[in-house]
Amino acid sequence: NSKIYVKDLNKVYHSVKGDTVAMKDVNINILENEFVSIVGPSGCGKSTLLRMVAGLDVATSGQIVIKDRNIIGPGADRGMVFQAYTLFPWMTVADNIKFGLKLRKIPSKEQEEITDKYLKVIKLEKFRNSYPKELSGGMKQRVAIARALANSPEVLLMDEPFSALDPQTRADMQLLIRQIWQIEKPTIMFVTHDIEEAIFLSSKIYVLTSTPGTVKKEVPVILPYN
Ligand code: ADP
Ligand code: ADP
Repeated sequence: NSKIYVKDLNKVYHSVKGDTVAMKDVNINILENEFVSIVGPSGCGKSTLLRMVAGLDVATSGQIVIKDRNIIGPGADRGMVFQAYTLFPWMTVADNIKFGLKLRKIPSKEQEEITDKYLKVIKLEKFRNSYPKELSGGMKQRVAIARALANSPEVLLMDEPFSALDPQTRADMQLLIRQIWQIEKPTIMFVTHDIEEAIFLSSKIYVLTSTPGTVKKEVPVILPYN
């Protein structure tokens, strides 16, 4: 029951200044219901790895399989939450959450039910008709999480989702995503440079170490207490 399977993945960026090896022979296996963090120092290739799994960037060589399918480009099977708020500013909170459901022509009654469910999960029922500019940073990230989960993705991909938040909000968000994971058990791939955050949140950690720009090895750590 592998959900994300990454085999011998390599990424080289070519530019006029020369080649940058962003990742070398990375192997990762994320099982159903696992909360996996990818940690490592800045520049070790965490974002690159996540972008390739998201289908937003193309590997130089190697294989990425999401739930038995080789991926080619982005897809609704992967929900995404990034560091910078990516809500549509001209849409209300509810319409942001509904966005993917509308695209997929889900019946409107069902759209409402799903939206209500996730507004409750993120505790923003009262902000249903608010616009992103009326929300704090933490609230916006909660909406981004709801929007990603509303599509029932195979996996939830998160790239430093709480890094831009103040410490208190960040702690609140960590508790919330942990609670969501414990209740709904989504499969999560979570990129962070913060090892404490990874230990607090995850059921498994991959550590990417690096000489500049080059991933040397991955160490899966099974945390017994999650
Ligand atoms: P991390 O997320 O761990 O900080 P990144 O994945 O952002 O690391 O970057 C890994 C390496 O690849 C770095 O050396 C970075 O400068 C380089 N890199 C990332 N994106 C690009 C790009 N679009 N073009 C060239 N080099 C890149
Ligand atoms: P993060 O630290 O969150 O991984 P970065 O600041 O490394 O983010 O990268 C932000 C964006 O800049 C990414 O889209 C990445 O592809 C691009 N980028 C990073 N390093 C380079 C580089 N050396 N040359 C060109 N683009 C880069």
